[in-house]
Amino acid sequence: MKLLLTLFITFLSTSFFGQKKYPTKDFRNPLDIPTVLAGTFGELRTNHFHAGIDIKTQRKEGLNVYAVGDGYVSRIKVALWGYGKVIYVDHPNGYTSVYAHLSKFGNGIEAYVKKRQYKKENYETGNIFPKKGEIPVKKGQVIAFTGSTGGFVAPHLHYEIRDTKTEKIINPFLFGIKVKDTIAPKIKGLIVYTLTDSSRVNQNTNESLLSFKKIKEHVYTTNRITAKGPIGFGINVYDQLNGAYNKNGVYSIEMKVNGHKVYHHNLETFSFKESKYINLLIDYSHYSTYKKRFQKTHKVKRNQLKIYKNLLNNGVINVKTGFNYRVEIIVSDFAGNTSTLRIPVKGVLSNAIFKQEKDTTAYQISRGEFHKWSKKGITIAFPKNTFYNDLFLDFDVQDSIVKIHEPTVPLNKSYTLTFDVSKYTEKEKSQLYIANINNKKYPSYQNTRKKKDKFYTTTKTLGKYTLATDNQKPVIYLKNFKNESWITKHDKIIVKISDKGTGIKSYRATLDGDWILMEYDLKKKQIVYQFKDKELIGAKHQLKIEVEDNVGNTNILNATFYKKQ
Ligand SMILES: [Zn+2]
Repeated sequence: MKLLLTLFITFLSTSFFGQKKYPTKDFRNPLDIPTVLAGTFGELRTNHFHAGIDIKTQRKEGLNVYAVGDGYVSRIKVALWGYGKVIYVDHPNGYTSVYAHLSKFGNGIEAYVKKRQYKKENYETGNIFPKKGEIPVKKGQVIAFTGSTGGFVAPHLHYEIRDTKTEKIINPFLFGIKVKDTIAPKIKGLIVYTLTDSSRVNQNTNESLLSFKKIKEHVYTTNRITAKGPIGFGINVYDQLNGAYNKNGVYSIEMKVNGHKVYHHNLETFSFKESKYINLLIDYSHYSTYKKRFQKTHKVKRNQLKIYKNLLNNGVINVKTGFNYRVEIIVSDFAGNTSTLRIPVKGVLSNAIFKQEKDTTAYQISRGEFHKWSKKGITIAFPKNTFYNDLFLDFDVQDSIVKIHEPTVPLNKSYTLTFDVSKYTEKEKSQLYIANINNKKYPSYQNTRKKKDKFYTTTKTLGKYTLATDNQKPVIYLKNFKNESWITKHDKIIVKISDKGTGIKSYRATLDGDWILMEYDLKKKQIVYQFKDKELIGAKHQLKIEVEDNVGNTNILNATFYKKQ
């Protein structure tokens, strides 16, 4: 009987409280340098959770990247943004490893990709899906070299593990990768939220930041607060690992009230379609105003994240008069180091109950309905469920600037913003674009689609927009040789390209009339051609480069050089 009970408890603890078992011995490290991280799995990023770990590469590029296990290459992509150059390997154990921001692919694979780039006449390849068995790899085989491709990223390897079938992303730490971490997470800030109109904290109706002090190693406390009604908390926290100063994400957050667990989430796994709900996990309004992320220890309506383990009343604490509450928030990293924050709460009667007046406008959003409104030639259209909550929208147009509520409200979906441009000439129209001006200093180009007298864009950001003009051509100049010169010893051509207004949309380079692959480095604002790609015939050669910006302004550079084979 005792044995049976033990078995039963074991069963309970593994299926309800434990996590899935992952193979910890199948995979080797993707690099052969010590694993030091610049980013952990699941850490909070803009509109998404980080899907892998970022392994530092000692500020270098070109380090060997090894296949972590036997398998075959299932996907390759070269893109200017996002993962940059990336390679996916499917393994027989049912998992896929992903290696991103690469500078180059390994022998064979590099030629395979270049062939497709020359065929498409484009640096960006889109997704390439080699057939199963077309590019087999062995554990420990060099499949690529580290880099910093994919936009404005520092050199590092972004490494991911996914479930091959479901594409769910899983914490690579669960596959046995070892990183030294003896440092406890750091708690930087705490916010207490009043969750209903009648909730009070220290007699206030609004949320507030609470200060705290250390009482012993890794344990902190606030002063006692008084409260009434449903309240919740939010915490600003980061984790440091040995050997680097990077502020990384933590693995789990728990909250206990009088010793009972009421909230727990951890970052074992999540899916890409859940990732957007990060904006409901964090205090989005605080983040968009102060750029600091407070993670709530209560789950709000519409939040469909599946990272939660044990929730009681969704982590909301309903404070009753005359009762005392020992609230404890425990933050852990993957290695098990913890920091604890205690918040003593006393339930009190609240005097001065006044009803909060809500601002109303003529533009009332009902979450489940489609809404479309126009003003002075500007139309906004919100599909069903664009918003997470009902609200009164602020919508105004002044001096050709449209104000669509505030960027502090997160959206579940994109909406459409349309400008009537019938009053502009064709020439003016060709240089106009829709700009977001939430940041007054830098109007940012919005992907502007043009249909006769209507220009429109789709966006998930509220705030201020206007029409702006870009009448400047992109700039192009030769970097490592002069026009009409001999460059027999050069192994490559470097050309600088840039555009001030809307940025570069595309470029095209030909050598003696044939398309050549010039790799675009966004950080250095340059494109590079390697002479080994193609055999030159004769000594005099013609280089032509065309660059187009996002509204269609183009510039062309023609250059001549001489080179002996
Ligand atoms: Zn990364």
